[in-house]
Amino acid sequence: MIEEGRLVLPGDRVAISEELQAGEGTYEHGGDIIASVAGTFTVDRKRMRAVVEPVNAGPLLLKPGDIAICEVKQITDSMVIVNILHIAGRKRRIAGSNDAVLHISNISNDYVESTGKTFRVGDIIRAKIIEVGNGIRLATKENNLGVIKAYCTQCRNPLIRKGNVLECPICERTEERKIAADYGEGNID
Ligand SMILES: [Zn+2]
Repeated sequence: MIEEGRLVLPGDRVAISEELQAGEGTYEHGGDIIASVAGTFTVDRKRMRAVVEPVNAGPLLLKPGDIAICEVKQITDSMVIVNILHIAGRKRRIAGSNDAVLHISNISNDYVESTGKTFRVGDIIRAKIIEVGNGIRLATKENNLGVIKAYCTQCRNPLIRKGNVLECPICERTEERKIAADYGEGNID
C-alpha cells in the first residue's frame, strides 16, 4: 500500500487486495487495487477500503431537488431549523452555510397541528431541497421523507417504529413524528 495523502493517476497501483478492498475511485484488477481517477489516496479504515478522492471535487453545491440528510437544531411554532449533514448518498462537504429551514406548510400533505408533533431537536431527517436562493428551504411532504432516526425525548434512546408512531423500548412511551416510509430499515445515509 502506498503512503496516504499521495497524489495518484488513473492506472496507478495503490494497494493489493489482501490489504484493502476497492472503494470509491479505485477498482480491483488481478489482486491489485488500482486508481480509476486522478486524486488523493486515502484509506477508509471503517470498511478497509482504498479510496481516491478526485482532485477536482470541490465543495458540493446544493440545488433544488437534492435530497438532504439533516439534523434538527431548533423548532419554533412555524418552522423547523436544521443543519444539513450531507446530500443523500454523498459524503462530500457542502459549500457555504449548512443551515436550512422547513416551514410548517412544507412538512406534510396532511394537516400539521404543531411542528413539535412532527420533529424534535436531535432527530435525523431526510428532506428535499426546494429553494436555495435566499437561504435553503426544505420540504418533507413525500412518503420517503421525514424522520429517519429519532431519539426518546426523555431518555435519548433510539425510538422504534410501531405503526404510525414511534415507541421508546425503555420508557414504553410513544411519540409522534412525520416518519419517513423506511424508518428503521437502516437507510440513514
Ligand atoms: Zn425513553
